[in-house]
Amino acid sequence: MATLIKNARIIDPKTRLDMCEDIYIDAHSIEVAPSRVKNSTLIMPGRGLIVAPGFIDLHVHFREPGFTYKEDISSGIKAAWAGGVTSALVMPNTNPALDEPKRIFYQHKRAEKYGFDLMVAAAATKALKGEELNDVGALKKAGAKACTDDGHVIDYSHMEKLLKACRRHNMLCMQHAEDKRQSLNAPLNEGKASKRFFISGQPSCAESAVVARDIELALRIGARYHVLHLSSAESLALVRKAKMNNGLISAEVSPHHLLLCEEDIRGKDASKKMNPPLRSKQDQEALLLGIMDGTIDAVASDHAPHSRREKAQALADAPFGVVGIETSILALLTLVKKKSLPLRRAVALLCEGPARIIGEEGRIGTLFGPNAKKNVCVFDPDFKQVISEKNLHGRSKNSAFIGMEMFGRVMATFQNGQLVYRA
Ligand SMILES: [Zn+2]
Ligand SMILES: [Zn+2]
Repeated sequence: MATLIKNARIIDPKTRLDMCEDIYIDAHSIEVAPSRVKNSTLIMPGRGLIVAPGFIDLHVHFREPGFTYKEDISSGIKAAWAGGVTSALVMPNTNPALDEPKRIFYQHKRAEKYGFDLMVAAAATKALKGEELNDVGALKKAGAKACTDDGHVIDYSHMEKLLKACRRHNMLCMQHAEDKRQSLNAPLNEGKASKRFFISGQPSCAESAVVARDIELALRIGARYHVLHLSSAESLALVRKAKMNNGLISAEVSPHHLLLCEEDIRGKDASKKMNPPLRSKQDQEALLLGIMDGTIDAVASDHAPHSRREKAQALADAPFGVVGIETSILALLTLVKKKSLPLRRAVALLCEGPARIIGEEGRIGTLFGPNAKKNVCVFDPDFKQVISEKNLHGRSKNSAFIGMEMFGRVMATFQNGQLVYRA
């Protein structure tokens, strides 16, 4: 069905459009100030609302196959739509891992039923074991958009070979940058929180040491390299410097690292246990500068569903990770309200920036152009809400924002011109 949204503010960072107008959406076209509309068109009032391109989340764990008690592709898509997300890049740490063409085909087939734009980051090594590199050319041919061993770091010798293969096949290499000899699997950051709870912490140099090594390698080889969930001021400085003279290096930050720091960890439970951990206040402030000055191009949720039972374990035993695909926009709108971020930049971090990183500009992340998918998010930037499990649509409810007051509400999501979610 066709929809006409009346008098909304339309923001499309790619074409630099920002205006208040009526906008018409159907499967074939998106038109600003349409001259005439069909009789059967659904009319939605849009005053006070923002119309933006459907959001792109470059970092999600949909857990299928292998861990569907946490999430699966259909529940993940439901959560995505509730967060205005119409494209997502799934990470390969399923069981079996996404390390062969047939597993990539399976992911695409499952999402096709919903018309959802599911993209795959394939495993860089066989079964994510870090021992044997996968065939990057074959993965690319099967439709993978990137490769990574997210959750595991790729060591130096494999990284060099991997980056060479990525350059040859024009593939994006994404790294979970963590020197495990330094981080020692500690549940929190080494700093105020770890001291308060008398437990060991991960130093931030466990991340930046790997980022420094990888950037040096990627620049020497000439491969595209992306830092997943960048969390520290040191890593940010390395990316900032590396980005000056080339388009090879990029990075994402997560909404939780932007909105929270280690000082927000009140109890010794696992609700804010994630990897990388929430860092210091200074790191958080540096990341906010990084999204403003363009060092960071994308906000990606690292949506990591876990069951209630798993997250209820003792801090040291519970798994790392929080859900976030539904609340990325709310986290950014909360920063907008605090005057830490302009609204247009917030929108760009969820559509134009990630489209550029993944090499899909023109197809997604914009409302206009001959190849643009008709993916749209409509949101209310001023709505105030306290996050509770009740308003999360995914199978798992392990959000770090439960009980927090946040701004924003997704009012409608359109996938390929069709209304797929309405608040
Ligand atoms: Zn990771
Ligand atoms: Zn992840």
